[in-house]
Amino acid sequence: MDRFQSLTECLQRECPTLELRRGEPMSRHTTFRVGGPVPLMALPRSEAEAAAAVSAAYRMELRPFFLGNGSNLLVADRGAEVFVIKVMDGLNLCRTEGQTLIAGGGVLLARAANCALEMGLTGLEFAHGIPGSAGGAVTMNAGAYDGEMSQVVRAVVCLTPNGETCRVTELGFGYRHSLFDDGSRLILRVEFALQPGDPAAIRGRMDELIRRRREKQPLEYPSAGSTFKRPPGGYAAALIDQCGLKGLRVGGAQVSEKHAGFLINLGGASCADIVALMDKVRDEVYRRTGVELEPEVKTLGL
Ligand SMILES: Cc1cc2nc3c(=O)[nH]c(=O)nc-3n(C[C@H](O)[C@H](O)[C@H](O)COP(=O)(O)OP(=O)(O)OC[C@H]3O[C@@H](n4cnc5c(N)ncnc54)[C@H](O)[C@@H]3O)c2cc1C
Repeated sequence: MDRFQSLTECLQRECPTLELRRGEPMSRHTTFRVGGPVPLMALPRSEAEAAAAVSAAYRMELRPFFLGNGSNLLVADRGAEVFVIKVMDGLNLCRTEGQTLIAGGGVLLARAANCALEMGLTGLEFAHGIPGSAGGAVTMNAGAYDGEMSQVVRAVVCLTPNGETCRVTELGFGYRHSLFDDGSRLILRVEFALQPGDPAAIRGRMDELIRRRREKQPLEYPSAGSTFKRPPGGYAAALIDQCGLKGLRVGGAQVSEKHAGFLINLGGASCADIVALMDKVRDEVYRRTGVELEPEVKTLGL
């Protein structure tokens, strides 16, 4: 019996309500809309189900992969031999305690920002247009328009590999990096420290940032946002543009004409197309400018 079948049977026994899917295509769970199947995916509907999935996986020596909204993820066309725990729908609580907003790891940032607005709390406006979950955003220290998670996250409640819950305040934030980057802890809840603000001003700032995104970003195509990290002292998009690479194509993948930092899926792109295009862009930018671009997107099975 394969390890994933043993894990399935163990989970069915120990946590019969947990939703499990065998051979689930990852293209359904990534904003690039590419990626082959994984042998087993769990979709917990509560923190207790998430804990059961994590501890059973580690007991069977299978390291789980925690999936949020898949908006910063590239998965191989043949899939990946990994147990995926998708934390979105089950961890979707969003509430405030004074000036603290507490969001489940699966709450989308747009919802968290709207929840803050409803309570007259400012600080999360920058995150409203980032299409990730609270857990994914903390892992990546996601940021935009001079804001980033490190400025507003006070603490994170996470699950350790043995299924214990702990509250962490030293979060190891760096540029698009945090303590959670090593993939060993599942983020259950995020505590955002916000300030009282004027709801009309908060709404105005959110609308303004969305307008700027729509104007500058190819939101009509599947992508993972900016494919490369910002190199020291510059912007990846500016370097790619400067090298004349806007519009460059491999199969169904293209360097966006609208925003050179975005690699987009024009329809029918494979992961191999996207990876080949990333390689071409990196080689050309290095050849012409001497700058080595580093991918921002996380990968599975590559
Ligand atoms: C159109 C578009 C625009 C974007 N704009 C921005 C932007 O302005 N700024 C920016 O920073 N990013 C941007 N992104 C990238 C992306 O939205 C962010 O990186 C986001 O934070 C990823 O969240 P996610 O839930 O989709 O994470 P996923 O892609 O699912 O996962 C990313 C990483 O987080 C980990 N992870 C996810 N959830 C958890 C959890 N609960 N516990 C532990 N680990 C977890 C995963 O294992 C993985 O390592 C954009 C993407 C798109 C498609």
